Amino acid sequence: MNIHEYQARELFEKFGVASSRGKVAGTVEEALAAGKAAAGGKIAVKAQIHAGGRGKGTFTNGFKGGVHIVDTPEEAAEIAGKMLGQTLVTHQTGPEGKLVSKVLIAEAVDISRELYLAILLDRQTSAPVIIASTEGGMDIEEVAAHSPEKLMHEPVHPLLGLQGYQIRKIAKALGLTGPLASQAGKLFTAMYKLFLDRDCSQIEVNPLVVTPDGRLLALDAKFNFDDNALYRQPDIVAMRDKTEEDPREVAASEYSLNYIGLDGNIACLVNGAGLAMATMDIIQYAGGSPANFLDVGGGATQEQVAAAFKIILGDQNVKGILVNIFGGIMDCNVIATGIIAAAKETNITIPLVVRLEGNNVAAGKKTLAESGLSLTGADDLADAAQKVVAAVKKAA
Ligand code: GDP
Ligand code: MN
Repeated sequence: MNIHEYQARELFEKFGVASSRGKVAGTVEEALAAGKAAAGGKIAVKAQIHAGGRGKGTFTNGFKGGVHIVDTPEEAAEIAGKMLGQTLVTHQTGPEGKLVSKVLIAEAVDISRELYLAILLDRQTSAPVIIASTEGGMDIEEVAAHSPEKLMHEPVHPLLGLQGYQIRKIAKALGLTGPLASQAGKLFTAMYKLFLDRDCSQIEVNPLVVTPDGRLLALDAKFNFDDNALYRQPDIVAMRDKTEEDPREVAASEYSLNYIGLDGNIACLVNGAGLAMATMDIIQYAGGSPANFLDVGGGATQEQVAAAFKIILGDQNVKGILVNIFGGIMDCNVIATGIIAAAKETNITIPLVVRLEGNNVAAGKKTLAESGLSLTGADDLADAAQKVVAAVKKAA
């Protein structure tokens, strides 16, 4: 799960990570009021979307930049008016972009240096790692690709926590000395506590800035949370903005289905993540292109199967469906009954290829055969993939 920058700043405030003052606005009037509240110096107007690269982004109406620095509250309101209700395209949104329904109006600070700081979970060491760089404000993937020596990796022992010597090492690498080093100590410690307390899988601050008057501030933040820990993070769940998420994935999560939308045209409904991956591979191998990853899990109910089917059919790109069930735990007849219920409800008109194998398979096949549903049976995975790819090509 992700959150917006303005929500990230609320968490920063709660945990004592220094940032610039800001307020979120959903209308031009709110932007004007927030601008007046922030007035005194320059004002930053920042489009709120779940994607980075906003500064260099372009709106589909031609307006350039999702981050603007202006002089007066009136100008801030004017810029907010050009952003709100518009679609912003950045290198992270994909060409379709993302709708801006809120802007952050923040005190714009002067910047002497832009740094980079992130805490992530490192799968290799199964521990948190802090990544720091003096190359802030840039695309960090570029830095990693062209000058990896400018990225510092500091693993944190999960039981010992972030140690004083590590804080000093990171501060030194970032060129933070004197009073800035003690601010760095406070900021790193607070950020690490936030990372643990809120079950984050990533906090990325880019840029972390040094101001001419000697302050160290987190000016932009991107968060990722561990979805499996959300049950114990009610205040994080409350920050979820479903309009930012793929509607297919939102629907799937309501039924506890593991679904990831892709841009191919052959949908797959599979039990087990490994089998789902293999199914996607073999569709590709047979010359097709998968429309999704979908694992209904080992203990799927008839309702979940029906919901999965509806999500698949709600996708306009889907031109064929491959159901691949290997019933170990899963009862093939439950799948068959779910497919029939959903197919009848949705009036399916596209080719449907079903491969059932395993637990109670005879009953499952019988249920499908007697349903009157037009579908193609398959004996094994390769056969199923070839059949669905051929059927989709024929229909096209
Ligand atoms: P992103 O483009 O989505 O990563 O959005 P950021 O919040 O990182 O803003 C992009 C760039 O705008 C930053 O790298 C800064 O250079 C600049 N910027 C953002 N906030 C401020 C500010 O308060 N003052 C100044 N001077 N520049 C800012
Ligand atoms: Mn940024």
